[in-house]
Amino acid sequence: MSLRLGLAWASRGTCVALLAQRGTPASVVGLKGARLASSSTCPDHHYDLVISGGGLVGFAMACSLGHSQRLSDRKILLLEGAPNKPWQLPELFSNRVCALNARTRTFFRKLGVWEHIEHLRAQPVRRMQVWESCSEAMITFDGQEQDDSTIAHIVENDVTLHSIKRQIPEHVEVEYEAKVESYQIPKDTASKVVLTLADGRTISTDLLIGADGAKSLVRRSMGVQYLGWEYDQMGIVATLQLSEAVDNTVAWQRFLPTGPVALLPLSDDHSSLVWSTTREQATQLLGLPDEDFTEALNRAIWDDSEADSGVKSIHEAWLRVLETVVPGESAEIRQLPPSIAQVLPGTRGGFPLGLGHAVHYVSPRVALIGDAAHRVHPLAGQGVNLGFGDVAALTRCLENSVLLGAQLGDEQALYQYEKERQKYNVATMASIDGLYRLYNSASPPLVLLRSLGLSAVNAMSPLKRQIILHAES
Ligand SMILES: Cc1cc2nc3c(=O)[nH]c(=O)nc-3n(C[C@H](O)[C@H](O)[C@H](O)COP(=O)(O)OP(=O)(O)OC[C@H]3O[C@@H](n4cnc5c(N)ncnc54)[C@H](O)[C@@H]3O)c2cc1C
Repeated sequence: MSLRLGLAWASRGTCVALLAQRGTPASVVGLKGARLASSSTCPDHHYDLVISGGGLVGFAMACSLGHSQRLSDRKILLLEGAPNKPWQLPELFSNRVCALNARTRTFFRKLGVWEHIEHLRAQPVRRMQVWESCSEAMITFDGQEQDDSTIAHIVENDVTLHSIKRQIPEHVEVEYEAKVESYQIPKDTASKVVLTLADGRTISTDLLIGADGAKSLVRRSMGVQYLGWEYDQMGIVATLQLSEAVDNTVAWQRFLPTGPVALLPLSDDHSSLVWSTTREQATQLLGLPDEDFTEALNRAIWDDSEADSGVKSIHEAWLRVLETVVPGESAEIRQLPPSIAQVLPGTRGGFPLGLGHAVHYVSPRVALIGDAAHRVHPLAGQGVNLGFGDVAALTRCLENSVLLGAQLGDEQALYQYEKERQKYNVATMASIDGLYRLYNSASPPLVLLRSLGLSAVNAMSPLKRQIILHAES
């Protein structure tokens, strides 16, 4: 009976049968039929804007749209597949953190998000030291030229998410446990986007924003080309207890031939680990007892046995040459990284790492943001910052198009967003992938070349300033 009803709905193109079945298992059958139906059938609800995916970037989008004066009369819905878990700041640090850059901070200040983050927990990074295991070369970045002398803040993802959610205006609707099963994407703006949820409901919208992560179903439904590959690497994350309390405001990153290991400050005596390494080594490291893992980590940070003596002497000569070219600038003030007392029990986790980029971020009535559009290696701490940059740019683009009288979802207007963001995101992704490849080798000629290059860049303050400015824009 239910099956017949569902098929009848699909073939006749009326809403009656689907509405009659909603909430019963039979409605799923009706739903599957609905996928065959055209979008001229009547969906259960209509929203001006629907954001699919409530991760950091999706919620930031909901917050940003909700605060926009120009879009204040629009009906906005965010759909998140996972349940809404009550959250309170735990005593223990979470092992999932992100380095939020100055541009993200400014954006969050405008939305009132930043003060919640600061009130909860955020550790400033005032200096970064990057060096490698195969030579003595290193580069440092200082935050002295920033307003508050910070390069970035290390913030737990839960703290960021909770702070964004607190600032979402009431007129923005948020639904949890609302997994979208399929999207009907129109070929042009004459039709609307229709979403079908796992519970059988259908929703139409003028503009669908895909914020559903790296495996985005929105992106696949758009049919855009996605270029990408997996690095043969995993990122191991963990929370670390330092051997002693220090002024812990330096982010440390050491490149090993197997991948970079980074210590990100959380408090005077805690840091967060992001250790990218081969899948094989990651599996082995994740299986070690805590004490052995701590020992392996201290070795990864301190061990100098991979340094090549030939490279070392040429590099020392190069530093002397640099000193004559840019006196005073090339002297490398090397700080010693902290030593790790222990990895906190139960905090280790592993994530596959890859690169991916959608050739187009938009199609009529659809826009992709965050990891749905681009995925990068975490070595530069840029992934979610790029996503927040998308949010700011898309909000501006929608405000402009409304001001000019265009309809929401107009492809030409959305194209401005794509153009602006691809220009920036592609350049950033290429730099990050280039860095990954440059440091993914222990071959002495390459080690020598990159060491000379790194020391030269380190000696040129204006160039370093440009690098920091790009990372923050
Ligand atoms: C080890 C590691 C370290 C990192 N460190 C940094 C860093 O220091 N700085 C930085 O900027 N970035 C960092 N990143 C990257 C950053 O974590 C990601 O870029 C960011 O979390 C992506 O957020 P998102 O909201 O786009 O996607 P996601 O977090 O993947 O969120 C997608 C959401 O969509 C929901 N969803 C998916 N499908 C559906 C559906 N069909 N229906 C409904 N909901 C759906 C999911 O439940 C999820 O909540 C790091 C990443 C890793 C792996």
